[in-house]
Amino acid sequence: NFRCRSAFKLLEIDDKFRLLQPGYSVVDCGSAPGAWSQVAVQRINSAGTDQGSPRGTVIGIDLLNIPPLDGAHFLSNHDVTDPATHGKLQELLPRGRAHVILSDMAPNASGFRDMDHEKLITMCLSLIDLAEKILLPGGSLLCKYWDGVLSHHLQEKLSSVFSSVRTIKPDASRKDSAERYFLARMYKKRVK
Ligand code: SAM
Repeated sequence: NFRCRSAFKLLEIDDKFRLLQPGYSVVDCGSAPGAWSQVAVQRINSAGTDQGSPRGTVIGIDLLNIPPLDGAHFLSNHDVTDPATHGKLQELLPRGRAHVILSDMAPNASGFRDMDHEKLITMCLSLIDLAEKILLPGGSLLCKYWDGVLSHHLQEKLSSVFSSVRTIKPDASRKDSAERYFLARMYKKRVK
């Protein structure tokens, strides 16, 4: 039983693109109430349910409280965009690195479509800073956005550090909503 219907969007995306492999380290941004983390725990075997496969790590972060889940480590009351949170993630992840960053984050909708769009794009852009600190070369980033004028800007920024970027509208996402996901794969570590 999943905590929220949003689980079906991640299941659908992962069935198609196989992002989550046993043994992987995954950071789930905006994870309350924890349905995406439930999917991640199953697929990367972080609860050790499948003794024949490597055991992964799931770390979930949210501004809200996230009820405990076997196989996941939660940072409740944490802001993903805060550099202090990035530091904590580096400490918690094995060797300070993640294979996958997931984000289903969304701001509280004001109802003004352009404003909500801009806010969420800004949050997504901060994930590129997070990636620079923790994402392994070759790693993936899946992030939710609300479509609008700045979507292209985000896509270009992602394309500058990932070899492959595509837009996904899951069947489980309401047809009449502006909700989309960018799936960015093959992270190219920026050369300093
Ligand atoms: N994927 C989740 C699940 O399956 O249970 C649902 C996520 S819900 C659509 C969006 C979440 O993003 C909210 O819980 C909200 O508190 C969180 N959020 C929004 N801004 C955030 C931020 N700056 N840092 C961390 N979490 C944030």
